[in-house]
This record gives sequence, structure tokens and C-alpha cells, in this order.
Amino acid sequence: MRVGHLVGGEVDIDGAELLGQPADVSRRRRGSVVAYVPQDPTAALNPVLRIGYQIREILDVHDSKEDREARVREVLEEVALPTDDEFRQRYPHQLSGGQAQRVVIAMAFALRPKVLVLDEPTTGLDVTNQAHVLATVKDLCERHRVAAVYVTHDLAVVGELAHRVAVLYAGQIVELGDKQDVFAAPRHPYTRALLAAVPSVTESRVLTGIAGHAPAPGQRPSGCRFHDRCDYQTEECATTEPPVVTIEGVLARCLRSEHVHRQPATTTTSAPTGETSQETVLEVANLTAWYGRQEILHQVGLAVPKNGCVALVGESGSGKSTLSRCVGGLHTEWDGTITFDNAEIPHGKRTPELRKRIQYIFQNPYLALNPRMTVNEIIRRPLVLFGQTATVAELLDQVSLPAETGRLLPARLSGGERQRVAIARALACEPDLLVCDEVTSALDVSVQASIIALLDNLRRTRGLSMLFVTHNLALVRSIATRTVVLAGGRTVESGPTERVLDNPEADYTRTLLANTPRLR
Ligand code: ADP
Ligand code: MG
Repeated sequence: MRVGHLVGGEVDIDGAELLGQPADVSRRRRGSVVAYVPQDPTAALNPVLRIGYQIREILDVHDSKEDREARVREVLEEVALPTDDEFRQRYPHQLSGGQAQRVVIAMAFALRPKVLVLDEPTTGLDVTNQAHVLATVKDLCERHRVAAVYVTHDLAVVGELAHRVAVLYAGQIVELGDKQDVFAAPRHPYTRALLAAVPSVTESRVLTGIAGHAPAPGQRPSGCRFHDRCDYQTEECATTEPPVVTIEGVLARCLRSEHVHRQPATTTTSAPTGETSQETVLEVANLTAWYGRQEILHQVGLAVPKNGCVALVGESGSGKSTLSRCVGGLHTEWDGTITFDNAEIPHGKRTPELRKRIQYIFQNPYLALNPRMTVNEIIRRPLVLFGQTATVAELLDQVSLPAETGRLLPARLSGGERQRVAIARALACEPDLLVCDEVTSALDVSVQASIIALLDNLRRTRGLSMLFVTHNLALVRSIATRTVVLAGGRTVESGPTERVLDNPEADYTRTLLANTPRLR
């Protein structure tokens, strides 16, 4: 791995320059003046040392042992973790993701820094843990008067937490200002497009993505770096680098920011429709599933109507993937009945016909495609296997990829493009049911928006039915006709999406909703 170099600029914290200091000075400042919380908490913790020991180590060495022990408990208490001996003696691998992240945050706050930098600290967490972490950060910052720079691709998190927002595109800040001002009427087309891609828990937005993808370093276009993806571009944008202008207190780097700022908001709302028949394509009844001796799903039931999209939501560990893997034929330790198109699915080997009709799309598009095969080969395989007449070019077109993509290896594609290839491969089988397990969780909001629009369109136009697994409740509004809530391997609630989200019956659903971050 190459290490980045600073070629210029300044970092000033509380009147003191941070860069270009002798190594011992900057080491001392790190932690005590500015502390850093990384995306992956395990990267910040030493796997072979107990967490109590790790916290104690960073505390002031001049205090007595008892004082430091007391401080360790205090620090843990601040982030709402247990303070008992058993917990303090645990190793990092004995913590959940959310607990590990809170330990790292506790360590960052322990030295009372002036500034805390958090780099996507909740990206790996589900909404419940995310809500705890966000509330903790907010509370500690206020209580100890610590300023925070919170790095995230999730604008809803920005909505919950931040006072000010800086929007970065292709290595430049393109908009900077108070959150309320920026969110209410963005000055930069990129900010505007990002906001249009954010799903909402309160309304069924039609999500729109941003065409193309961000240019890699070294391949940045002339003029405005965003111009070739921009809805507002003029000829001048391709040649002139936009200066920074200030409009009503907000900085923006766009030649047309005055105009963009005056545009009314364009988010349109429309609930997913098209579920026409009363017929059921998939019915899961009394499903119990286990890994080894441990029972994970307990008598779960759900039904997917023909041409409908059923969202399966719940915290991580609730059993969503297990259920979808049972339906997709990837997990066989189950009991109960799974009925597909009025016929019971056997426990053992599935017929080719059944394997063709139910297609499973994975969460991680980076692992789902064979890295040694070109896109053409990847998509052609099921076409040949199932004797389908469609061509690779037609399938690429259906997922809005240019035919040239076919010649490339997956490594050359972005995450969103790979997920489109995975969808094209599934479509090659002409399936009746798509099982989508967190298919957008690894993607940025704008890419997520275009994948959601694509899936919704395929469902409406091809009469597909879908089981859509997600931990993101806001997303459900934009894609699912019905919603099933899973907790601890049991269904706690199910019904039409609007009913479940607007008038939840289960306390658990209410808590999930309350913990889902929203733009304000
Ligand atoms: P979700 O998708 O809702 O996050 P999963 O279905 O992946 O939940 O997991 C449900 C439970 O099953 C969790 O407690 C998880 O630890 C356990 N589990 C998942 N996969 C395995 C496995 N391969 N072996 C043993 N336990 C597993
Ligand atoms: Mg899962």
C-alpha cells in the first residue's frame, strides 16, 4: 500500500498548526488534540489485548492504578457499555460490531480531544446500533464541547447529526454550508442529485440515481469535474473551472449555482404498485431453520403475491439471510413448507426448472462474479445452461449497461455496474422470483437509487415477483408493496408497506422506525 503525501495546505486546530511538526509533537497531539475513529473498529483495537487493558493504556500514566481503573469504568459508562469485570476482560472478538465501535469511541473521547474525526463509523452497523452510536457521539460532543468531523455517504445520517455539511466530489469540496440551508435548497447540482437519491421513511419517493460514475484520480475531466454527469451543464462547464461563489451564506463551486439554487425541489412520490393478482407465487409456512444445533428461524411464515415485492426487514442477526437462503436453495437445514407456484419445494436437490425460476442475488457484488470470466461469459452461462433465446446484449441493455461492458472483467467495473451484471445474469434465466439479499447495502446512495429503480421497473414490466431483504426501512417505501418485519427469527408484523410504516402494530417496528435516520 502506498502512503499518501501532503503537498501543501494547513491544518489548524484551536489556533495551533498541526502539520509539519516534529514527530514526537504530532504523536502527542494525536489523541489528545485530535482523535480518530475508523470505519472498522477492529482495525483500531488490538486483537490479543483485553479491552479494559487497552482503554487503561491510553489514559494518563501519572494517575494511580486505582484512579485509572475507575476512569476505565467511567469511560465505558459514557458510551453505555457494561462496566463489570467480565466485560472489561473481554477480547475484541468477543464484542458485537456495535460494542466494538463504542469501545473505540470511548477511547477517542477518553483524552478529551478538541476535535474528533469519525470516518463512516456506523457503516457496518444496523439501524439500532447506528442510532445508539450516533446518539452517543452527539451527547458526548455536547457534554465535553468536542467538535466532530463526521465522514459519511449517508445523507440521512448527516440530517440526524450535523450542523454544517461539506459535500465532496472528485477530490474537491463542491458545496459547504449550514445543513438546513444546504438541504433546503442546494446550490450544487451534485448535492441536489444526492438528495434526490435518498430514500425516506415517511414518503414513498421515486429514487433517481446519477448517471455514470465519479472520475478516478488522474482521469478528472476538464472544466467542472461534475459536468459530464450534470443535468444543468452548458458548454462553458466543460472548459471553465468554476470559481467558488457564496449564495446566502453557502459556498458552492458551480457556474450555474444561482440558477440551481432557485430550482424547486423535484422529488416525486409514488408508492410501488402493479401487484395485480391475488395469486401467491411463494408461500413460506412454519419455517424453522438451524445451523448445526442452533435454531435460527422459529415457525416463520410469509407470502409473496404474484408480481409483488415483499420486503423482509429486521436488525442484523434476525435471520433475514437465513430465510432468503432457504428460499433460494442455498441452505437446506430447515423444516416446514416452502410452496412455489402451488407446488411444495423439496428439501433436497432442486430440479433445473426450479433453479431457473428462483434466482438469488447476493449482497456483495464483489464476491458474486467470477473474477476470471468476462461479463459476456458470465451472462452467457445461464443462457446456454437453460437454453434461453435472449442475447447477452439484450440483457445488458435491460440493466442499462452498454454492450462494450461485455468484454470486460469484473475487476474493471464499479460496484453498481457489477450489481447490474449480477441482475442481468439472474434475468438470463427468465426467473419468476428474484430473491434479493441486501443487494444495495454495499453501494452509494446514488447507485442504490438507480438499482432500485431498475428492479422496480423489471418487476412491473416483466411480471417478476420479488423477495427484497434489507435492514434499511427507508428503502422499503420505494420498492416494496408489502413488508414483513423479522426479529430474533420470528415474524413480528406483516402487511402492506404503507400500513406497516405508517401505523405499525408491533413495538419492535416502532423502535426500528424511530431509529432510522432521516433528512430533516
Ligand atoms: P441477518 O441476515 O438478518 O443479519 P442471518 O440470517 O445472517 O441474519 O443470521 C441469523 C443468525 O444465524 C445469526 O445469529 C447468525 O450469527 C447465525 N448464522 C448465520 N450464518 C451462520 C452460519 N453459517 N453458521 C452458524 N450460524 C450462522
Ligand atoms: Mg443478512
